[in-house]
Amino acid sequence: MSQILIIEDESRLANVLVRALSELGHQAQAVDRAEEGLLLVESDPPKLIILDAMLPGLDGFEFLKRLRLKHDLPVLMLTALSTTKHKVHGLDLGADDYLAKPFKLEEFLARVRALLRRANKGASEVRCGDLVIDLSQRRASRAGRALFLSQTEFAILDLLARNVGIPVSKAALLERIWDDGERAENLVEVYIHYLRQKTEQGKKSRLIHTARGKGYLLASEEDEVGG
Ligand code: CA
Repeated sequence: MSQILIIEDESRLANVLVRALSELGHQAQAVDRAEEGLLLVESDPPKLIILDAMLPGLDGFEFLKRLRLKHDLPVLMLTALSTTKHKVHGLDLGADDYLAKPFKLEEFLARVRALLRRANKGASEVRCGDLVIDLSQRRASRAGRALFLSQTEFAILDLLARNVGIPVSKAALLERIWDDGERAENLVEVYIHYLRQKTEQGKKSRLIHTARGKGYLLASEEDEVGG
């Protein structure tokens, strides 16, 4: 039995999903606002989140962005917006899977099964040289010593870790980590500087590289660092 949170403002659909999941023995709960969903995640994190994209108030994409600052919970996005652009946007922001409305209940349940199976496999860990990043526990260590990172620093490291060896652009970091109002040109540079100070303490080699014109990437000495 797994606890599943459904964030969906179409009450008829929400009821169908709650019923279907409950029949399979899951403990499913539906809310119709993303804001309420965020509060529930904080007080009692579910095993899986089913997230509608178009919601009144905070929409599904904005919810994902906020969720990913702190949590690595699996998210299945549901939406009528089935264009490739929206799909890519959702996946970029950290959705684990995507289902376009209207969908068949069997397909929905199959995706839920697959995501729960993956979630149960345990912590997701990324290694880069002697740097170990635990994405689900939101912890990082280098050469066995814990790094004390702020929430923002970890959010940046998390994005770089999910793209090891691939440059992540400054614009992408800005968009995914900061709210519109807070965005300033040099924010990314400032935080990359902090992260380098922390990850390179004790004269350790550089792992966060600048790829000129492309952004920043996480790569160890053994890896090829391109352009
Ligand atoms: Ca909706």
